[in-house]
Amino acid sequence: MSQTVRTRFAPSPTGQMHIGNVRTALFAWLFARANKGKFILRIEDTDQSRSTDEYIQAILNDLKWIGLDYDEFHRQTERADIHRQLAQQLLQEGKAYRCYCTPEQLEQRRKEMSERSENIGYDRRCRDLAEQPQDVPCALRLKIPLEGVTEFDDLVFGKVAVQNKEIEDLVILRSDGSPTFNFACALDDHAMGITHVIRGDDHVANTPKQINILRAFGYPIPQYAHLSSILGPDKARLSKRHGATALDWYRQNGYLPDAMVNYLVRLGWAFGDEEFFRRQDLIEKFSLDHINRSAAVFNPEKLLWLNGEHIRSNTPADLWHLWKPFVLDAGLAEVVERTEGVLEGVYLCPSQWGEKAEFRPAEWVFEVMQTLQPRAKTLVEMTQRARFYFVKDIQFDEVAVAKNLKPEAKVPMQDLIQGLEGLSEPWQQADLENLFGQIIERHGIKMVKLAMPVRVGLTGESVSPGIFEIVKLLGRALSLERLQKAMERI
Ligand code: GLU
Repeated sequence: MSQTVRTRFAPSPTGQMHIGNVRTALFAWLFARANKGKFILRIEDTDQSRSTDEYIQAILNDLKWIGLDYDEFHRQTERADIHRQLAQQLLQEGKAYRCYCTPEQLEQRRKEMSERSENIGYDRRCRDLAEQPQDVPCALRLKIPLEGVTEFDDLVFGKVAVQNKEIEDLVILRSDGSPTFNFACALDDHAMGITHVIRGDDHVANTPKQINILRAFGYPIPQYAHLSSILGPDKARLSKRHGATALDWYRQNGYLPDAMVNYLVRLGWAFGDEEFFRRQDLIEKFSLDHINRSAAVFNPEKLLWLNGEHIRSNTPADLWHLWKPFVLDAGLAEVVERTEGVLEGVYLCPSQWGEKAEFRPAEWVFEVMQTLQPRAKTLVEMTQRARFYFVKDIQFDEVAVAKNLKPEAKVPMQDLIQGLEGLSEPWQQADLENLFGQIIERHGIKMVKLAMPVRVGLTGESVSPGIFEIVKLLGRALSLERLQKAMERI
């Protein structure tokens, strides 16, 4: 039986999750899920001066929001005693040695070496000291073999080989007793049974060191897959100056978790020329064979487009869960739920209508959403466009008013209002179409000449869902009231 796949995401909680970290986490998660394996979250908080609990919480929130669930959770600092013991073990076995060089001495020698353009690493001065006092502060360094090669078959980059003489005798335990990143990371990967180390290519240079750590203990070597960096449109490494890179910004600005997953997976992975993937498709299709070695370029417009596609691909009932926080935040409605998460209906904009004044059932909310989904690119935009359905008093876009509520619209509008007053309820699409048809014919005008003033009157804007849908959803009283008010603006 083949080994169960175990991957991990090992963030250092020293900042917010950005696009690059999230993509790394996503690839590790997808590979585990695609192979029915396990995905482990390991918080690498050994850098105590820069790690904070707030950042840990932010990482957990981000992973939850984007839907990357994990099977195990570890904090690296909780394992520091084990790391220390294992470092001592290597010392006893003669595989590590005490290094008494002070930071100042190291710095001085580094300078001298760089002036001679020599390999800038530790010069192994303490490796074979005859005297090794135990009561003097010292670091522990790993003895890297002086000959031979360390190589690995990277699942993305292919064969990587480094001459051992070029690998530094790295510190595994600092003089203050704290384990170093490479030591803790390699040992934890082993302890947690990681089969595939999937991480950013900024760690390629660490891999030979980590392999030597594992070898010193006789541990098996996992497979490595290093992901190329993500670049900005100017081909420089993606950074804040290219725009928003924090995942949380995308959440706040109305991007869907599935759209983020879809977009991020395509930064480096391809499946033919397909662009749109649902999460489940990805779990079925993802493999490390289709990962591109060359760096991917972040394209915010494409992400925005995909977000719109995902907004459209959801049923209103599913999308509601994601849209609800925006509706609440904008004060558009008070939400009534049948049971946790199951919408019963909403009270329209309580600050304008009054508490519990105007109730609309879930079906109404879903129909409203259906009119907005075809055009919305983000949930924020959808919320703005939804405003007129919920508020009592719409705000007029003055440009739209000037352009469309002109004197020539007065008589046809008046006629329409009369027609609507006589139309029996509930209003049907066909009856509305009929009525509008009669009026434009009677006045010898084109449909836009009636539809646009009506649109501006009902919504305050010149862009909106179809007016028959709007009229039906607003209902008789509100539609007539708004159209009357629009007459006053003409
Ligand atoms: N903690 C490291 C980082 O955030 C990642 C280590 C790894 O994935 O091996 O860069």
